[in-house]
Amino acid sequence: MDPTQIAARADAAGGVIRTAALRSAGATARDIRRACESGAVTRLRGGVYTTPHAAAGVLTAAAHGGALCCASELARLGVWVLDSSRLHVAMGGGGHEYTHPECTCLPHWDDPPPGYGRVDVERALVQLARCQGPESFFAAFESAWRLGLLSRRARMSIRARLDARHRWLVDLARADADSGLESILRLRLLRLGIPLRCQVVIRGVGRVDFVLGERIILEVDGRDNHDDATHRHKDLVRDANAAALGYVTLRFDYALVMHDWPRVAAAILRARAVAR
Ligand SMILES: [Zn+2]
Ligand SMILES: [Zn+2]
Repeated sequence: MDPTQIAARADAAGGVIRTAALRSAGATARDIRRACESGAVTRLRGGVYTTPHAAAGVLTAAAHGGALCCASELARLGVWVLDSSRLHVAMGGGGHEYTHPECTCLPHWDDPPPGYGRVDVERALVQLARCQGPESFFAAFESAWRLGLLSRRARMSIRARLDARHRWLVDLARADADSGLESILRLRLLRLGIPLRCQVVIRGVGRVDFVLGERIILEVDGRDNHDDATHRHKDLVRDANAAALGYVTLRFDYALVMHDWPRVAAAILRARAVAR
C-alpha cells in the first residue's frame, strides 16, 4: 500500500487511524513507515496516525485519547449549541486519557467506545442531553433538524436512546425553529403553561417569532443578528407597524433570556394579564 492510499484510509476514518486498522486493510509496517517519512500521515503516538486533513478538534480529541463528540461535534456541524467552550471527547467505557498541551477536554465515558474521529450526530445529541440538560438538548435537536441532519428514523432512534424523562422533548420539537434561543424560550413558556403560536405571519408586519393570545408579539434576537443599526431600524419599523394594528411587542435578547429569566417571565406574565 503506498503513502497516498494510507492517507486516504486515514481520511476516510475521519483523519485519525490506528495501526491495527491499517494492517487489516493490507498495509505492512514498512508501508506505514514510508507514509510517515513522506508526510502523508503523522504519528500521534504509538499505534495512532493522523492526516493533515483532520479537523483541529478531531486531532485534539485524539491527543486526549478519544473522538470528538457531544457539544463539540454538534458545533462543528453548525448546530446551535448553548455552550461548546470545552472540547467534549468520547472515551468509551474503558478508554485511556493522555496528557497533552492546553487540555480543557471534558471526557465522556458512555459506551460503546467510539475509537477516534467523530461520533455520529445521533450519539452527539444523546450525549448532549446528559451533559448539558434538557434545554440545551432541545435547542440543538431543533437546530439539527432544521439543518436537515435528522431523518425521521434518526429522530426516533434518538428518542429511544434518551433517558425516559427527556423523551417528550423529541415529541415537542419542530423542524422550523429559527434559532436556539427561540427553542429555549418556547420550551420555557410551555413549562409556564403559556400557550403560543410560532412563526406567525401578520399582514403589515411580517413573520414574527411568537404570538401570545391575540395581541402580544414576542421576538427574540439571537446571538448573531440584530447588532447593526440597519437591523435595529427594521425592528423598530416592525414594532411601530404592529403597534398601529393593536399589538404589543416584547423583544428579548440572548443575555436577558439566558441570564435574567425572572425579568423576562415577569414581563410576559404581566403583559398577558393586561391584555386580557
Ligand atoms: Zn458533553
Ligand atoms: Zn485533553
